[in-house]
Amino acid sequence: MKQSNIRNFSIIAHIDHGKSTLADRILELTETVEMREMKSQLLDSMDLERERGITIKLNAVQLKYTAKDGEDYIFHLIDTPGHVDFTYEVSRSLAACDGAVLVVDAAQGIEAQTLANVYLALDNDLEILPVINKIDLPSARPDEIMQEIEDVIGLDASYAPQISAKSGLHVVDVLEAIVKYIPAPTGDVNAPLKALVFDSVYDPYRGVLALISIKEGSIKVGDMIKFMATGAEYEVLEVGIRNPKEVKKQQLVTGEVGWISAAIKSVKDVRVGDTITIKNNPAAEPLAGYRIMNPTVYCGLYPIDNAKYNDMREALEKLQLNDAALQFEPETSQALGFGFRCGFLGLLHMDVIQERIEREYNIPLIATAPSVVYHAYLTDGSMVQVDNPSFLPDPQKIDHIEEPYVKASIMVPNDFVGPVMELCQKKRGNYKDMIYIDDTRMNLIYELPLSEIVFDFFDRLKSLSKGYASFDYELIGYQTSRLAKMDILLNGEIVDALSTIVHRDFAYNRGKSIVEKLKKLIPKHQFEIPIQAAIGGKIIARSNIKSLRKNVLAKCYGGDISRKKKLLEKQKEGKKRMKSVGSVEVPQEAFMSVLSMD
Ligand code: GDP
Ligand code: MG
Repeated sequence: MKQSNIRNFSIIAHIDHGKSTLADRILELTETVEMREMKSQLLDSMDLERERGITIKLNAVQLKYTAKDGEDYIFHLIDTPGHVDFTYEVSRSLAACDGAVLVVDAAQGIEAQTLANVYLALDNDLEILPVINKIDLPSARPDEIMQEIEDVIGLDASYAPQISAKSGLHVVDVLEAIVKYIPAPTGDVNAPLKALVFDSVYDPYRGVLALISIKEGSIKVGDMIKFMATGAEYEVLEVGIRNPKEVKKQQLVTGEVGWISAAIKSVKDVRVGDTITIKNNPAAEPLAGYRIMNPTVYCGLYPIDNAKYNDMREALEKLQLNDAALQFEPETSQALGFGFRCGFLGLLHMDVIQERIEREYNIPLIATAPSVVYHAYLTDGSMVQVDNPSFLPDPQKIDHIEEPYVKASIMVPNDFVGPVMELCQKKRGNYKDMIYIDDTRMNLIYELPLSEIVFDFFDRLKSLSKGYASFDYELIGYQTSRLAKMDILLNGEIVDALSTIVHRDFAYNRGKSIVEKLKKLIPKHQFEIPIQAAIGGKIIARSNIKSLRKNVLAKCYGGDISRKKKLLEKQKEGKKRMKSVGSVEVPQEAFMSVLSMD
């Protein structure tokens, strides 16, 4: 295949605008997947992705397309996730491409992540091909959206295909436009090898497989290769592509996207973003890698069954392999025992990891409330980073505390601007700007503390805008706030896993709300349980859980033994998600209760 007939692209879009559906249609049209094998959203291979209908891990497939000009083309399609937490994955996939197909919903128009993804594509110097999707919807207004793309993004949308990915209408125009507008890879096939590692997967038989995009030169079976950043050296045992089934090849050349295996045992040798070259004929310089993404949200994850601690470490190591943004280290909690402090890019990321550990590794977990990273400046002039509120130094030693702030861009129909501004105000936001998108919508710009976004911002935004608002944010740095640690005491003892850092102005209300919630969530015991919220030893809210009056089993009159058994069974079931904290049984929900404020 001539290099000039290769096209490498990603599909980018705001969530639900139809990336995965378009990818499915493209796979069908190129007869990459036979119809009988076709299940919807084929690229979303993880169970969890299918269930949630979101794309989490990127995927790369090779497709063959005979264009109307009579020539054969090879496409490498790299699917990307659309959620704000997974920007990291998007930027990785884009680095492997020359162009991006930008899908915009014909009814919804440009949304916050449409723009965020466009910026990422522009950062990577990609050609952007706009596509207007869902024109079959009665509410579709493709011509207006075309204008919006020109006005807001500044792209020429006059040649944008107008399609229905669902029915397949005009999807072939997208393939033709890819051939016409997305450039072929430009690298020199005779130059020393430069292959970008954009992902890796662990195979139990072959070790770590590196997913690579060949930017220059070629790689074949038997080559001695070197990872330029880690210095690791290996002999290539297999090379291949996916279509999406794995297909082995003798070599991969400039412009191709595929995988290699080299009996790589150590996960650490294959760093995503690294460049692979040939040991005896190395490239002078590596490709520009990726920005390392630092976690913004941390929480404690504890196996409910302490015996699963080592299994959990293994699970985290495996997950980290193709999710470089996941971080973890051992942590002990007086209340919860041995577990891990884990860092994530956002709440969805956290949710997904938690669910994968439970589901794919079968380890039931207790998760503590997520926290951002605070900077505590001490009176001796030093600074400590605190990602676990229970480790905030003694208040006497603290001079001031800074917290991370974000710049949020919220796109919202005019009708909801009032309520959204009110929400931002309540969340300690500073108003920055208001930009008109068209007659019906605005883009509100606010600076907000990240911790307030972690506290149910997104859900509220969605509900008060009836689902119409979309939002995106980027970290802009740290600002001083009047913050303090709030402890929760059960039965007179501080439960470290329930400590949070709160703004002093909201401490009283938040304390009251948490205490009330815990009262509802913690079941009655044989004794009365006082619940208290305290700041620096001072109690700011309190309540009591009354003791049980009767033994539940008493109701069974000792007669029906099977019923009694069932009841015990049921109690045991319910207890699975409980952790004994001192003498009190605390359910999982209680640890998250410090999160939301009603
Ligand atoms: P993604 O989040 O961008 O990957 O979006 P999906 O491909 O998962 O699609 C989101 C939803 O929109 C699904 O329910 C699809 O069936 C639906 N959808 C996608 N394309 C079309 C289309 O052309 N017309 C209509 N009516 N619905 C579509
Ligand atoms: Mg998808």
